[in-house]
Amino acid sequence: MSSIGKDLRKILGDKQVLDLPEDVSAYANDATFYIAKKNPDAVAVPKTTKDVSEIMKYAFKNKIPVVPRGAGSGLAGGCTPVHGGIVLDMKKKDRILEIDHKNMSATVECGVVLNNFNRELARQGLFYPPDPQSMSVCTLGGNIATRAGGPRGVKYGTTERYVTGLEMVMPDGTVMTPGGKVMKMSSGYDITHLMTGSEGTLGVITSAHLRLLPMPAAKRTIVVTCTTVDQAAEIVSEIIAAGAVPAMLEFLIKLAISVLNKYISPPLPLLGEAYLLMELDGSASQVEDETRDIKRICTGMGAVDVRVVTDDAESATYWWARSRLYPGMLQIFKRVITEDITVPRNSIPEFVRRVQAIAASTGAFIGLAGHAGDGNMHPTILHTEISEEMSKKAEKAIEEIIRAGLDLKGTISGEHGIGIHKNKFTELEHGADQIELMKKIKAAFDPHNIMNPGKIWIEEAR
Ligand SMILES: Cc1cc2nc3c(=O)[nH]c(=O)nc-3n(C[C@H](O)[C@H](O)[C@H](O)COP(=O)(O)OP(=O)(O)OC[C@H]3O[C@@H](n4cnc5c(N)ncnc54)[C@H](O)[C@@H]3O)c2cc1C
Repeated sequence: MSSIGKDLRKILGDKQVLDLPEDVSAYANDATFYIAKKNPDAVAVPKTTKDVSEIMKYAFKNKIPVVPRGAGSGLAGGCTPVHGGIVLDMKKKDRILEIDHKNMSATVECGVVLNNFNRELARQGLFYPPDPQSMSVCTLGGNIATRAGGPRGVKYGTTERYVTGLEMVMPDGTVMTPGGKVMKMSSGYDITHLMTGSEGTLGVITSAHLRLLPMPAAKRTIVVTCTTVDQAAEIVSEIIAAGAVPAMLEFLIKLAISVLNKYISPPLPLLGEAYLLMELDGSASQVEDETRDIKRICTGMGAVDVRVVTDDAESATYWWARSRLYPGMLQIFKRVITEDITVPRNSIPEFVRRVQAIAASTGAFIGLAGHAGDGNMHPTILHTEISEEMSKKAEKAIEEIIRAGLDLKGTISGEHGIGIHKNKFTELEHGADQIELMKKIKAAFDPHNIMNPGKIWIEEAR
């Protein structure tokens, strides 16, 4: 039993603390391959904001690192502890506190699983658009802390657009409630949105007010088969330039479709090198008009096939399959590293060409999929074996992909966050002055640097 574990038991009681080696080792990584060099000393499972506050007061006084954790589905090593300490497992703080129809707002605790929230909203005819493809496990707290996105980002934006207020616990245990249910606010610095995307480095998000929308009246799925990867990228650019706004516009290469075909019924014939998977939503007439426009653009640009899916059950299989892409790849390859570059949308064709050239020059096997409608591409480095040679190729390919994205005026992360996966590249994107400012902001929130240390930028030696 660790001494930190003993102290936490005095605060929370026996049932809410784990510190056996076999238990804490389950908290040493997220969905990436990064494993903590040192396991956490103990895991605390708070159920109330008061629990979180008491844990933080203890950690602050004793300068113990604290890593907030939702479902651990992150793809950046965000909740992988770098210096041991306490992992805060927030999954038991999982109540939907209120669904307020009059204000089109929900108040939720941070541990609510996104799909459970969606199911409750659907029962009430309401809609919360952010749709990370891990929605069957990921928590709303994790989504807020990473500014999570998903296919619907193209039309509806990502998580930050829906967060209007928070309850949060500061590193010294103080509870704060920035923002609220109001639809707009111009009153001082925007702490709510500073916390949104802060990856657990500024404080603990305990609950949130989220903006809701009415459920769209009509939906339609379209699947476009393209001769080449280049053609698919050009079609995406043209659809955006024409002013059409699909709710989802996903880009997948043939390899991805061959993996997903086991979930798609009937399976898609592998007639093209790349595919676009779209969903249109809105009023029935709007969906009809957009279907016609998009069909015209795709056919006019030489797509092999434009399939308008009218059967709801068949549509659902495409989107279910899309959400299985990462786990499907993991069943085939020994390691899968997903990048998260976002480029201005007119640069997608050039970015795709550069990724193909990087695959050829480095010898890395790179899959390509992404939420192309908002420029968010996920080049994915696929390892057929775990070896030093393959790791070196992957490292080189990742660095070149990141440099290509930045060269095209993109960002190194559109939705997954930085964590430890990309902390050596943040200065390349933002420059030393901005990183210095970020460090000063962190120091103002967290003077002892106990909140998820080692993330977002490279730490000086401790
Ligand atoms: C199959 C698969 C598909 C995915 N698809 C997408 C996608 O389409 N779009 C997308 O954006 N992401 C996607 N992801 C990545 C991941 O699911 C998201 O980043 C998600 O938001 C993480 O939620 P989580 O609850 O698992 O958080 P965790 O992984 O547990 O934590 C993520 C970060 O948030 C911090 N954190 C968690 N909870 C809190 C809290 N209460 N207070 C403060 N900080 C906190 C952690 O410290 C960490 O830095 C995918 C992952 C997988 C495995």
